[in-house]
Amino acid sequence: MTSDLCTGYREFRFQFVDQALRICVYMRRNCLPDRRNRLDQIAYVNGSFVPLSEAKVSVLDRGFLFADGIYEVAAVLDGKLIDNASHLARLERSVGEIALALPETTARIQEIQRELVARNNLVNGMVYLEVTRGADAGRDFAFPKGVKPTLVMFTSVKDIVNAPSAKTGIAVITVPDLRWERRDIKSVALLAQVLAKQAAAEAGAGEAWMIEDGKVTEGGSSSAFILTQDDVLVTRQNSSAILPGCTRKAVVALAQERQLRVEERPFTVEEALKAKEAFITSATVFVQAVVSIDGKAVANGKPGPMTDRLREIYVDFARATAQ
Ligand code: PLP
Repeated sequence: MTSDLCTGYREFRFQFVDQALRICVYMRRNCLPDRRNRLDQIAYVNGSFVPLSEAKVSVLDRGFLFADGIYEVAAVLDGKLIDNASHLARLERSVGEIALALPETTARIQEIQRELVARNNLVNGMVYLEVTRGADAGRDFAFPKGVKPTLVMFTSVKDIVNAPSAKTGIAVITVPDLRWERRDIKSVALLAQVLAKQAAAEAGAGEAWMIEDGKVTEGGSSSAFILTQDDVLVTRQNSSAILPGCTRKAVVALAQERQLRVEERPFTVEEALKAKEAFITSATVFVQAVVSIDGKAVANGKPGPMTDRLREIYVDFARATAQ
């Protein structure tokens, strides 16, 4: 009798512990905030691979004090980097424009990007990298002498190809373009974009189109396109008014190869609202339909066929050239 009770109790305890462990595993997989999962990731900081939660730079880092730094974001598909040569070329150009020497060669940077992808078992997502003018002994505006630049990288997970917004399209709002006059430099000084994208989020929109002199410059973190009623693809020409998007460049080339007419010039919101289609491009969305602007529908308010086709063409290009 006593032994039966003991066995029963042991059995009950075993089942209870087993159940509790299952709940813990389930919670860990499904319920813990994304932040916790992200902090388990491996990051790279100045020569070392460390858990993201331990990845730190000095409060004297000029990236923190002055936004004196440059960043790049490359997509990852099936564990491979997308259009990375273009991103590294833009990185070299950006650092050159602010007289900041890269602390590693771009070949080494690519090796580190790949190692981070491998260490994090990253299948689909992106690799973020940032280089700043480093941390001096104090806070002086002029460039410090003999200070090694900071290089930081980390990854994040995103299924760009199957993102739900690719099917539905996104709303955009318009905001004044408050940025400085060298937007061609991929600087970490992103306060204007933070405010623009926060306003978009509060309005339930997926992006903010920034307006200057009555014309769209670009999205907060994307390039802007329209397809006119006579099937001309229009996007603003590269200049110091916009960031030369790597995805923009690839999409323009892919469209031209397919005999689509492309005009690189500014366009107004009114023109966009009369267009057949509108979309944005970036490394983290690829090609993404825009279905409304400031609450007014673009065409029938659904992603257009040309946008869908260009998205497919870009995804094919990405997979074919991934490294
Ligand atoms: N324009 C701005 C202001 C951006 O921040 C970005 C990307 O972050 C883009 C355009 C798109 O550039 P890419 O296609 O290289 O991601």
